[in-house]
Amino acid sequence: MRDIDAETRLITLLGFPLGHSLSPLIHNTALSEQEINAVYLCMPVAGHQFEPAVRGLAAAGFMGSNVTIPHKERAYELVDVLSDQARAVGAVNTIVCQCEKGSPPPSLYGDNTDIQGFLDPLKPYSSRLRDAEMTILGSGGAARAVCYALLSQYTPSSLTLIARTPSKAEALARDMATFDDRGALRITTFRESGRHVRRCSLLVNTTPVGMHPGTDQTPWPTAEDFSSGQIVYDLIYNPRKTRLLIEAERRGATGIGGMEMLIGQAAASYVQWTSRTMPADAVRRALDAHSGS
Ligand code: NAP
Repeated sequence: MRDIDAETRLITLLGFPLGHSLSPLIHNTALSEQEINAVYLCMPVAGHQFEPAVRGLAAAGFMGSNVTIPHKERAYELVDVLSDQARAVGAVNTIVCQCEKGSPPPSLYGDNTDIQGFLDPLKPYSSRLRDAEMTILGSGGAARAVCYALLSQYTPSSLTLIARTPSKAEALARDMATFDDRGALRITTFRESGRHVRRCSLLVNTTPVGMHPGTDQTPWPTAEDFSSGQIVYDLIYNPRKTRLLIEAERRGATGIGGMEMLIGQAAASYVQWTSRTMPADAVRRALDAHSGS
């Protein structure tokens, strides 16, 4: 990391609790590689302190911030300007302090880079995905970004939300209705959705089932439902290969893990703070070294 001096700028991650976030490693590797005089810090900020913390970003001259659980919806309400993506999903994960030197308080621009981060690893498969049948396991915060991304990018012929709590999936489907020109959205439960999983071209896991330390678990235990020609995308990045991915790949499906989404959303935030393209290879090397350590 570069030396910190009087010119060093700050970027932060606001959330609570923050646990072992990989974002500082990703962004500090990139900043250091490109000799940008800035550092990325984690700031655990509990609920009632979030608004003053966000106001403080602008006042204290931060370049910007990432926002994570549980503040993404509140950040949506607090910023001055929203990107189309943030407005569509009702959540902000990236704040950019737009400052003109010497001008009064900068404005706060809010974006949601989870959408681009999610879509980036699917680019090589775009032709297979247009108008295809798709399923999403789970209907929480990440499912919202995934649902919008798939509807707006691929106009699927069907997009089935497989949910433990159907009322949450119904609320998500209502919010996404304006992006669902074809009437593709359907809601079902885990018990009733075998045929959707067998038929779909893309299955996305947005539940935390299979995440460390519960790595022996899978959100879809019927591995025989997977086949070649399918893409199975697990948003979990710890472990990099979840049981879901291992079993799907064994059956011939293409597996995509959550690490590429994590890198993709970070890259989409980084370019907005620094006007530079994130050096993804250096970041991957740092993440590999970290996971091997
Ligand atoms: P969230 O808002 O809490 O949503 C989790 C969803 O999973 C909910 O719909 C929940 O159902 C469902 N769920 C939880 N446990 C379940 C179980 N045992 N069986 C069936 N469904 C279950 O969480 P989130 O923010 O969306 O994050 C979800 C996952 O995505 C996490 O693993 C997170 O690390 C990952 N993620 C990765 C990235 C990345 O960059 N790779 C980005 C964002 C999120 P209920 O509604 O019934 O509670």
